[in-house]
Amino acid sequence: MTEVKKSLNFIEQIIEEDLKENYSKEQLKFRFPPEPNGYLHIGHAKSICLNFGLGVKYGAPVNLRFDDTNPIKEEQEFVDSIKEDILWLGFKWEKECYASDYFQQLYDWSIQMIKDGYAYVDSQTSAVMAEQKGTPTQPGIDSPFRSRSVEENLDLFEKMKNGETEEGVHVLRAKIDMASKNMLMRDPVMYRSLHKKHHRTGNDWMIYPMYDWAHGQSDFIEQVSHSFCTLEFVMHRELYNWFLGVIDIKDQLNPKQTEFARLNLSYTVMSKRKLAELVNNKIVNSWDDPRMPTISGLRRRGYTPASIRKFAETIGVAKRDNIIDVSLLEFCIREDLNKIAPRVMGVLDPVKLVITNYPDGKEEWLETENNPEDESAGTREIPFSKELYIEREDFKEEANRKFFRLSIGKEVRLKSAYIIKGEKVIKDENGEILEIHCTYDSKSKSGSGTEEALRKVKGTLHWVSVKHAVEAEIRLYDRLFNVESPDTDKEKSYLEFINPDSLQIVNGYVEPGLKGAGVSEKFQFQRIGYFNVDKDTTEDKLVFNRTVALRDSWGKQNQ
Ligand code: ATP
Ligand code: MG
Repeated sequence: MTEVKKSLNFIEQIIEEDLKENYSKEQLKFRFPPEPNGYLHIGHAKSICLNFGLGVKYGAPVNLRFDDTNPIKEEQEFVDSIKEDILWLGFKWEKECYASDYFQQLYDWSIQMIKDGYAYVDSQTSAVMAEQKGTPTQPGIDSPFRSRSVEENLDLFEKMKNGETEEGVHVLRAKIDMASKNMLMRDPVMYRSLHKKHHRTGNDWMIYPMYDWAHGQSDFIEQVSHSFCTLEFVMHRELYNWFLGVIDIKDQLNPKQTEFARLNLSYTVMSKRKLAELVNNKIVNSWDDPRMPTISGLRRRGYTPASIRKFAETIGVAKRDNIIDVSLLEFCIREDLNKIAPRVMGVLDPVKLVITNYPDGKEEWLETENNPEDESAGTREIPFSKELYIEREDFKEEANRKFFRLSIGKEVRLKSAYIIKGEKVIKDENGEILEIHCTYDSKSKSGSGTEEALRKVKGTLHWVSVKHAVEAEIRLYDRLFNVESPDTDKEKSYLEFINPDSLQIVNGYVEPGLKGAGVSEKFQFQRIGYFNVDKDTTEDKLVFNRTVALRDSWGKQNQ
């Protein structure tokens, strides 16, 4: 096999440089550090593919670290879903770690910092502290508690830890520089009191560390070599390094923080807080609602792990933020399903077609290919009879020259079956079409090689035999938001841009072979799109989710 040599992205270039200068290959270690406060989304998938992808590329371990430092928002349910999603994407972590496992170590280091004069307990209100912080152009003011004695600091901090002081009264702050150009260096808070039960440590701790204090230290404890985060953390890097400097442990590797651009996707929002709001406000049904950009939502929608990995590879990693068009994600799933999804026939908006010259009671089982893209997928037989369902929009009584479907007096082919000719329509009193009558050419059977079969007709329609059809609920999804970037408007909340028609439920008919299809089986409904069997399917009722239409029609619809 020849391997295509790809150019290295900027992160791989950094690693290659480091390997030349100051790291051995054995020292490389990465991590993916989700906070278990929600389900993972496609943005996280980018970070997962980056970190675990580097692990695969360099043969280096990758830890899964739960950044579980805020008991107010974190739950075991989220921990479980995160693990499930990463495994589903096809990656394995080296160690399952929790920042909460390091609470004691972090506490011990804080005690040392207090003793060394690097941390103090501040007892002002958060409003006063915010005022003293200054502005980017004005230095801050020292807190009057900055010069507290070591003994008093130790005493208060222990009381905070035990829950003997009230919430919101004291915090532990790092003593750095209230005049620093970097606002984050102006004595950042390391701990706050929270008298809350933690999903893993229970009531052991009544103080919880802040992100900046916990994150780099966790990287250090695990001896992660390269710690990747999104661009919002550029300014945090100085603090990350400062904390590593004060705990100063010799002969151990200091991790290195590098930032990359987060993924923003058009027509959706990408923050767990906002996604949680969509769930809690019942705008969607659940975290795994197929309209959600969560990994579990995409899975339920019918996305494959390969398509998401391909998407991440295609967008790459960059140093500058941008918005990726959701149609790229759709392109990736279409491409994958085109290769693997069996072709079947399903009619979403059925109208009855009667072949008047086809013998009553006759049925034929016609052989048809399962996937023209994959010969090994073989063939199957589908039943044909006098009465069929076709798509309502595939018929027009009077049609212009551009209408390549069925109309009166015109011929079309029924996919894998015969050529038919429209004869007349039967309507109800409101003019609604009840039945279309047609005749068929019995010598025109597909694949028979006869002159009649080979003659050219304008179009080919999909169909399902009425007698054999299986009813199915089909869920058609559209974009959840009707503007490209719903969360960048200065005046309006993203909730004002919800597309009210993001879900349409229809009852259609599918060919009988689909009866008994298992949850998450994927099919191409010919001429329509790709569909995934939903978990709401029961023995009596098939439910399909439309993953994506066969072609991108979004632009056209909105012109
Ligand atoms: P959110 O705002 O959605 O909660 P987060 O960054 O707070 O996102 P974490 O659970 O803290 O979520 O993130 C875990 C990892 O995933 C981090 O390393 C973070 O940088 C990365 N990540 C999160 N969102 C994105 C995104 N949109 N694109 C790329 N990486 C992301
Ligand atoms: Mg976060």
